[in-house]
Amino acid sequence: MIMEFTKRTTPLSITYFIAAIVFTLTFFTSTALAITEANPSEKEKGSFDILYWEKCGVTGSSGTGTPSTTEEPTSTGAVDESGWAFPTVAGTPISSDYRAPNRPGHQGVDLAGPGILGQPIYASRDGTVTHSGTASGFGYWIVIEHDVDGQIISSVYGHMSGDDLMVPVGAKVKTGQQISRVGNQGQSTGPHLHYEERVGGVNGGDRKPVAVYGQTGNTTPADPADPADQQASTQPADTSAADQTSSCKGESGSKTPVTPVNCAEANKSEDKSKFVWDYLRGQGLSEEQTAGVMGNLAHESGDPTFKKSTDVYEVGGANAGYGLAQWSFGRQTSLRDAAAKDPRGLTDLCFQLDYLVEESKARERRDGGGNEWDGIKEQKTIEDATYYFEYNYERPQPGSTGARVKYANEYMNKYGSGGGNRNV
Ligand SMILES: [Zn+2]
Repeated sequence: MIMEFTKRTTPLSITYFIAAIVFTLTFFTSTALAITEANPSEKEKGSFDILYWEKCGVTGSSGTGTPSTTEEPTSTGAVDESGWAFPTVAGTPISSDYRAPNRPGHQGVDLAGPGILGQPIYASRDGTVTHSGTASGFGYWIVIEHDVDGQIISSVYGHMSGDDLMVPVGAKVKTGQQISRVGNQGQSTGPHLHYEERVGGVNGGDRKPVAVYGQTGNTTPADPADPADQQASTQPADTSAADQTSSCKGESGSKTPVTPVNCAEANKSEDKSKFVWDYLRGQGLSEEQTAGVMGNLAHESGDPTFKKSTDVYEVGGANAGYGLAQWSFGRQTSLRDAAAKDPRGLTDLCFQLDYLVEESKARERRDGGGNEWDGIKEQKTIEDATYYFEYNYERPQPGSTGARVKYANEYMNKYGSGGGNRNV
């Protein structure tokens, strides 16, 4: 990164990126890290917290679901005496528990077994469909809002195929009514249903799902002492890939950070751009905003696959750009300090992305009016998003906007929903 007036020996600067990541996440740890830039403006000074989160940032769309089939859902799920229906075929085993010890960030329960693919998914209770459409990380999801004796509970169903969404937003559904079929979309290592119950609506805290565990299961709403929990979860929690926590381990005794992409797989990949795309989309950025941020990162490193910029990393000493955002000078020092405390380490793609988000949240945008991360989310077009990120987070010398936009458009063509490949 470069400061506007700093001599730069490195390709490009970094600067702020705004990360837009909406975490759904629960922060739980805070390690104060000072940002020490070479010539930081007053606004850029200070410290910020690296926050670990246990929820994955999965962005869900609402309202795009179109019933893809004309068939009437006829099958029904078993309803217990408390009025909740098991959300898929009765007797389907739990393949990953709600907040299992090895997945403390898992805010739902995974149900899977032989032959589960294509099996019915049932509404766990009477309610109204509030989301039926794409959800990065989940492939597609359905959310149903229930009024349970005056308390709003939302049930969340993930990993289905878009062709299997059988209820549109606004539909009234009955307990046990088939709403979809079990799929294997999104960040999923095998066919399964990821099911959650959220208290107070889709943005509320999770609880141990009654439809699966019964009424005796302890409800464990979000810890009220953790402020992040209150804002956590505009998104469904995790992406259910059972192995994805392996590369995102937290410090011992801490909650486990989980990111919306399979970090281990990303770290091994020749082309990491799709992971970066999914990560940023999963943190709440639109396709345009995601493309704009990625166009900047690609231009900074000259590496549109992001392989060299993460794997090789060391380019030429402390004043050289380093990593995805070509962090340099004091910002690079801060990055290294954070990496030293992070079990994932400096070259982990998810570490770098997480860092980028936290850093941008800790920086005020140049024109004031909030932090850089929030600002990226206001951008509507690829061009605006690219320039915003360049001007605020990266802060290079002028003249490279066109090159950044070019990269951004390439990503959009490759990964955007209007292009040949869907996002999920
Ligand atoms: Zn799950």
